[in-house]
Amino acid sequence: MALMITDECINCDVCEPECPNGAISLGPQIYVIDPNLCTECVGHFATSQCVEVCPVDCIPLHPEHQETREQLLAKYQLITGNEATFPTPDQSPKLASHS
Ligand code: SF4
Ligand code: SF4
Repeated sequence: MALMITDECINCDVCEPECPNGAISLGPQIYVIDPNLCTECVGHFATSQCVEVCPVDCIPLHPEHQETREQLLAKYQLITGNEATFPTPDQSPKLASHS
């Protein structure tokens, strides 16, 4: 699933450089996540890096962009041209707890 930034964002800037896909940018009011680029950090990290650093916890899952782990891996491969090396697909049950 892609993530989204809510209007609780305080524009602190710390999440933008942490995104491995360049999915975060400053929008008209607050920071925004491009759902076409957000893989929930699948393929890069075991956890969502933006969520890890956000001081106000304003980055939930996007309800309109529900994707399976396989779809997120496919998006990662499309964006990077790389085969995912971590996390491995056999860790997919972990994602079930997110949905
Ligand atoms: S979850 Fe990962 S890929 Fe998605 S916006 Fe956050 S840092 Fe970027
Ligand atoms: S870390 Fe959180 S509060 Fe800071 S800019 Fe990103 S979404 Fe907004």
